[in-house]
Amino acid sequence: MALAVEGSGTGIWDRDVGTGQILYSRGWKALFGYADDQVSDRIEDAYLRVHPDDLGQVRASIESHFEQKSEVYVVEHRLLCADGSYKWASSRGKVVSRDADGKPLRMIGITTDVTVMRRMATQLHECARTVTRLTNEVPALVFEMSLDSGGVAGFTYVSEGVREMFELTPAELAADPQILRTLIHPDDYDAYRATLAASAASLRPWQLEYRVLLPRQGLRWREGSARTRQMLDGSTQWHGFITDITERKNIEAQLREFADVDTLTRLPNRRCFMSRMETELARTRRVAGTRTAVLMFDIDFFKRVNDSYGHAAGDGVLKHFATILTKAMREVDHVGRIGGEEFAVMLTNADLAAAASFASRVQQRLAAAPLVDDGRTFAVTVSIGVSAMRPEDQGVDAALYRADMALYRAKERGRNCVVTDEE
Ligand code: GH3
Ligand code: MG
Ligand code: MG
Repeated sequence: MALAVEGSGTGIWDRDVGTGQILYSRGWKALFGYADDQVSDRIEDAYLRVHPDDLGQVRASIESHFEQKSEVYVVEHRLLCADGSYKWASSRGKVVSRDADGKPLRMIGITTDVTVMRRMATQLHECARTVTRLTNEVPALVFEMSLDSGGVAGFTYVSEGVREMFELTPAELAADPQILRTLIHPDDYDAYRATLAASAASLRPWQLEYRVLLPRQGLRWREGSARTRQMLDGSTQWHGFITDITERKNIEAQLREFADVDTLTRLPNRRCFMSRMETELARTRRVAGTRTAVLMFDIDFFKRVNDSYGHAAGDGVLKHFATILTKAMREVDHVGRIGGEEFAVMLTNADLAAAASFASRVQQRLAAAPLVDDGRTFAVTVSIGVSAMRPEDQGVDAALYRADMALYRAKERGRNCVVTDEE
């Protein structure tokens, strides 16, 4: 048995606790570079070989085992070699006989050289620390997620970024991936699940922009991106990251608004109104019996407002008219500022008669509520041309043109009146 142990690069020692004698095997001596006659058999000398920084721990472990507080004596420490250097050693031992009072008489043990293992452990530790530091310093949540063949998903790694992205600790998310259900916006959760499932099925990268509702930050936008891998055990693994895209989303929304909204009146601009007309024309062609009226409004003698009171007063009148027009409409209707003092309205489910009565109503309201600003009253009137969208129209310009023609006739008739294109 001793031979077998010796052959495995392990040293053996045998200590007589009463006399203080300790005997080392040849293998033990060889492990630390000592010749057979170079090591004394005294325990005091043994302690001299232990690195001073480790001596306290070694003594405490021995003491504790002598007092039967530990089953075995196990300790890692540095040991002086014949050449003056130190090696990391692991010592394990056990008291094998005690006197009637339980005082130790004899103890035997083994020592192995763990220098290489210690170095590898240190390297591994360093490596893991570098990776962790790297993923933690990235302004994002870096993650590894797995979906096992039973369809259960879990995070196998989440970086510190989880605190910012989800207001959770890494441990909280790792313990319960379902917690995201309470944080992802209810309108986006289905897409979150569906895109992950699609990514698992196709093994294509996962990418999604979604909203979260967080206790501290409130409504924020997140973007998830990950590569997918199929593992040998049939599970799917994603490696990716989640970033904050709230700022970008806000800018995008602003840009969309710039593109669609008239800055003075806040109404949809010509481009936006025309695109809504396109949608409506397509519906008119598709659904038989669809009746959509198109109205053109042009403020009468508007130039005079500008000329008499200044451009700013003219702007005020335009805003005032836009408000009156919008308030007269239903949710389903559309309005747009088409030109300077020209506005268009599209009424769904309205024939020419209904549209004409809507037009008259706007005129009445405008007359009843002129803009009063700085003590001055700006009474303006509006001329209105009414037409209807037709399924045979080549494009949206056709209905607008007819409404414009009717408007022209309204101006000819003396303004402040409504003309339909069938008159
Ligand atoms: P009519 O009854 O024939 O429509 O006469 P009008 O004066 O309303 O028509 P005209 O087309 O001659 O004048 C429109 C004026 O609207 C000319 C332009 O200076 C003014 N205008 C266009 N856009 C704006 C704007 O954004 N703000 C202001 N204050 N004026 C504008
Ligand atoms: Mg005009
Ligand atoms: Mg005008």
